[in-house]
Amino acid sequence: NRVVSGSAGADERFEEQSLRPQTLRQYIGQDQVKQNLSIFIEAALKREETLDHVLLYGPPGLGKTTMAAVIANEMGAGFRTTSGPAIERPGDLAAVLTALAPGDVLFIDEIHRLPRSIEEVLYPAMEDFCLDIVIGKGPEARSVRLDLPPFTLIGATTRAGALSAPLRDRFGVHSRLEYYTAEQLKEVVLRTSDIFGTAIDPEGAEELARRSRGTPRIANRLLKRVRDYAEVRGEGHITIEKANEALELLQVDRLGLDHIDHKLLTTILTRFTGGPVGLDTLAASIGEESTTIEDVYEPYLLQIGFLQRTPRGRMALPAAYEHLGIEVPNR
Ligand code: ATP
Repeated sequence: NRVVSGSAGADERFEEQSLRPQTLRQYIGQDQVKQNLSIFIEAALKREETLDHVLLYGPPGLGKTTMAAVIANEMGAGFRTTSGPAIERPGDLAAVLTALAPGDVLFIDEIHRLPRSIEEVLYPAMEDFCLDIVIGKGPEARSVRLDLPPFTLIGATTRAGALSAPLRDRFGVHSRLEYYTAEQLKEVVLRTSDIFGTAIDPEGAEELARRSRGTPRIANRLLKRVRDYAEVRGEGHITIEKANEALELLQVDRLGLDHIDHKLLTTILTRFTGGPVGLDTLAASIGEESTTIEDVYEPYLLQIGFLQRTPRGRMALPAAYEHLGIEVPNR
């Protein structure tokens, strides 16, 4: 349960719903993506058609689910959600697709985890709004084509590269969500404090924003923890002092790095003399899964210029040495 992880905890998703912006106007940041989508949405509405299928990709917690719900809302459409791992058999997908109403937005989270056999059911559904299902077994088996109502599929993934090319090509719109700036995260923090009815100084909000790794989910989570601290150790008002004290207690440093980031960086800097070190070797050394390092820990360290991916493995950059107070070796 890492406080600075972009992934959602078990209970968190439910809580988050109340914090979600409803319209493109309320959605903070991602200006390029919003600008494009608002044109596509307006055009689809004018033509009285469904919006083309949309693929949203980017690190966890940047607002893919939120964006999908906003799109459905802006289209005046129903919003149905499922996820790649929840669909195990072609019948599961058929059940979801046949329950759609005309114009609905179907959101599939972690779409890269759909088995290939299920992807194949999705192709005709996406292209022609129909479903080919096989009835019966052996020589009696025959394929029946079912018509589906027109719908928009929104797929979300943290790894666009893991999607098969035929599936990727069937999305008309590809939008990459970027890390948020500190200024945008400050807005997220202020908006959420307002919803919570928590008083917060602008400097307190800035401090939280700086330590949120460019990720609104982390900003909201840190805000909740700092609010607890301010209520117990103060009057409930979040000042910069209270924010700093609480974040120190949570072991979140001034760039938003925690003990796991520190362990990962120190291992590269000292044990592997700055790298390059292969992902699997690194994972084994710190006792984590390679995929967790790749999807959860590493993207932000790459973003802030602490690490570099090279064909021979991960390498630390001078900023990482400086942050940890370790001298850059002469090579
Ligand atoms: P995952 O990849 O884990 O599915 P996600 O990218 O779908 O995550 P969301 O669940 O949409 O992320 O967002 C996480 C939290 O951040 C939610 O509480 C949401 O309200 C908030 N949030 C996301 N984007 C924004 C935004 N642009 N403005 C305000 N709040 C946001």
